[in-house]
Amino acid sequence: MTGALPTAASLYERVRRVIPPIEWPAFVDDIDAILALKRERNAVVLAHNYQTPEIFHCVADIVGDSLALARKAMTVEADVIVVAGVHFMAETAKLLNPGKTVLIPDLAAGCSLADSITAEDVRLMRQRYPSAPVVTYVNTSAAVKAESDICCTSGNALAVVKSLNVPRVIMLPDEYLARNIAAQTKVEIIAWKGRCEVHERFSPADIRELREAHPGVTVLAHPECPPEVVAEADFAGSTAAMSDYVGRHKPARVVLMTECSMSDNVAVEHPDVDFVRPCNLCPHMKRITLANIRSALEENRHVVTIDPRVAERARWAVERMLFV
Ligand code: SF4
Repeated sequence: MTGALPTAASLYERVRRVIPPIEWPAFVDDIDAILALKRERNAVVLAHNYQTPEIFHCVADIVGDSLALARKAMTVEADVIVVAGVHFMAETAKLLNPGKTVLIPDLAAGCSLADSITAEDVRLMRQRYPSAPVVTYVNTSAAVKAESDICCTSGNALAVVKSLNVPRVIMLPDEYLARNIAAQTKVEIIAWKGRCEVHERFSPADIRELREAHPGVTVLAHPECPPEVVAEADFAGSTAAMSDYVGRHKPARVVLMTECSMSDNVAVEHPDVDFVRPCNLCPHMKRITLANIRSALEENRHVVTIDPRVAERARWAVERMLFV
């Protein structure tokens, strides 16, 4: 960046379409403090697409979906990485940056998918299907990744499955992602029973109601949604793929069947597109706030650590995915 350093006042213009003027003063102190702390500590903030706009657009240095964050986390030059996302994302950042301090502002920022499976569960699946490689969604703990052959995200899951060149794979832990990928390949997919508590709530009836209330609306769905929802959508893809779709197709009116903040963040980039916003919040993502990002930097908390023996095997599964 050239010219004057950003301040909260200069950043408001960027988010004024999604943050009303009356709410903005509540954010100003924390934004200015975080910007100063990042310079002092040589820190960067990684923010997932589901973070609220004052985080995503005003204090984050790197934004994106899980895959983009993992990829970009490998190139980070800073001493400190603050992850504005959930715990498995902070672990992934640590796996790829073992020598850096990685902070998560709230240790309780979990994920229903990550919580649905343990390392022991993966070992039992392997015993049951010994010839099938294990493809593990990044929404899992480092301990689960360490038991896996390769990781995937919703953006590259199909490519990862195809890259293995085998007739059958185990895909963990998201049952719906596994079924949505199975519909696109002849490879037999053995699924686990995990669900994203945000995306499982969307139904085909929601889409029909939206189409009736907003004739001509383009419906984009995340592949963590039930297959019946994906089948009724106009397009299904990761958060990055949805954002890219809006940029390329410029639909007059669009609805994103995913977490609420995603629409706000994409709307900032596309003022000419009308966003219909059904709202399913991720309570785990919403644990991250400007206030706790500021505290994380001020008090160096919460430092993410991973057992080195687990980290080595988990890193291998993540890095293998990044080269597909
Ligand atoms: S939106 Fe779903 S998959 Fe993402 S962190 Fe929340 S519970 Fe996990």
